[in-house]
Amino acid sequence: MSENSPIPPQSSTDHLSCLDVLTQWLSARGGETRYSRVLSVLAEMSANELRRDGTTSPVDVDTLRAIYVEQFGGVLQGDSPGRWLRREKFVAWWMAHRAEISAECANAGLACGPDLRAMPSAGGRGNVTRYQLAFVAMDVPEEGTDPDTDVNDNAAERGSRESLTYRIEPVMAAWWLRGLFVSQGFAMRSWRGVCLLLLLTAPVLITWFILAGLVVSPSTLTRHPALTITGLLGSILWLISTWPMYSLPTRRLVIAPQWVLSLNAPYGVLRFIRGEVGQPLAGGWVHLEGPQATCPICAGRVILDEGGTAFPDRIIGRCEDSPLEHVFSYDPVFRSGGPLR
Ligand SMILES: [Zn+2]
Repeated sequence: MSENSPIPPQSSTDHLSCLDVLTQWLSARGGETRYSRVLSVLAEMSANELRRDGTTSPVDVDTLRAIYVEQFGGVLQGDSPGRWLRREKFVAWWMAHRAEISAECANAGLACGPDLRAMPSAGGRGNVTRYQLAFVAMDVPEEGTDPDTDVNDNAAERGSRESLTYRIEPVMAAWWLRGLFVSQGFAMRSWRGVCLLLLLTAPVLITWFILAGLVVSPSTLTRHPALTITGLLGSILWLISTWPMYSLPTRRLVIAPQWVLSLNAPYGVLRFIRGEVGQPLAGGWVHLEGPQATCPICAGRVILDEGGTAFPDRIIGRCEDSPLEHVFSYDPVFRSGGPLR
């Protein structure tokens, strides 16, 4: 935490420039989120402090909220400060944007970038958090490299294009499928693979069986109407709900149907890994998993979904808080993505 010690005047100009870059980035690309606005309040306070004392110090969340309300409106009462500005979400939002902001600083020829620090209150008041904008040195471009050329341009471009990294979370299968969809996945050439195939082919077989029975002896319908119609409708519904899974071998990734998933956390995807012939994975390997990321716009959770008519034939990442606007690509090989809107 050497950044907390007094800073030589030489670097305080650099730090002020960092804050300028941050403020410009926030107004151009930070959006209307609370995180972005709180950060602009903090940046302004830090800049004033830097000009006055040459250093920045932590600001507690009550003070930030009071100034925020003055500038952007809202009420001071209501939620506790910890609920008003959730520390984990705020820090997650910052982490999602830090690289992009650092790249902007590098483009501006600066050797340092701003970094948000969150720490508990000095008075030990339980969950009151204090925030500080500190400055961290960045890799300085090599001697003779013009800071305005390729390297930094590429870094900034890459940062904004590939702005999302998905992490793979475990997924709980429906209780009656927990023996099948185990966390380590299963080979198609195993008893679990056979069970999955049965699960997929059974509705087709049952439908054909009932239809064939009706052709052979049409009187079955009048003798057992309820049984025949329930059986037929049931197996057709079953077929419809398993239909997406038929494309698993070709698409390699499908959104898991609801009946596969536990009611507590109904989100997951099925991934299919095909092995080389003769390799242990030959025949393929099936995983049930839950890729997710943090939305760089609002810090919400990004989960995978069908692309729909806007992104046909694609599986994309949608932010749960703004599923139609905060939309990202998903590359299952690199587990990364970039903005689509
Ligand atoms: Zn979002």
